[in-house]
Amino acid sequence: MTPTDRARDWEHTWFGVWRVEHGETDLPSVHEFIDPSWLPADKDQMIKYLTRSPVVVATVAGYSDCLLCSARSELGCWQSDGTWLWPADLEHYVGVHGVVLPSRLVEHIRHQGYNPPTELDVPIENLPWPD
Ligand SMILES: [Zn+2]
Repeated sequence: MTPTDRARDWEHTWFGVWRVEHGETDLPSVHEFIDPSWLPADKDQMIKYLTRSPVVVATVAGYSDCLLCSARSELGCWQSDGTWLWPADLEHYVGVHGVVLPSRLVEHIRHQGYNPPTELDVPIENLPWPD
């Protein structure tokens, strides 16, 4: 499957959690979603939406290394707009490494007019956490 196919068929409302190399999990590999030719005109606005959405969990203690480069991000930091949930470093993967966002997330962000909520009215435990 191409990254575009994977993005179209993504069935969850969380995104951006990757399988660590040689990890035995059902998580996707980040490589399955990389397509540097994915350059929608509103990509910058989508990345801003991701970075400006409320932080829902900041468990901290340490940093996680990007799987693809030497960048670091805060470990355990999640963001959400109340419908979708993603790790705070997703914007790095999208902006730097050409990760394609799921089609439904793209449509959702466009539908919101690129304006994330300032706070969530959804309890944290009700967010779509990965299994
Ligand atoms: Zn990186």
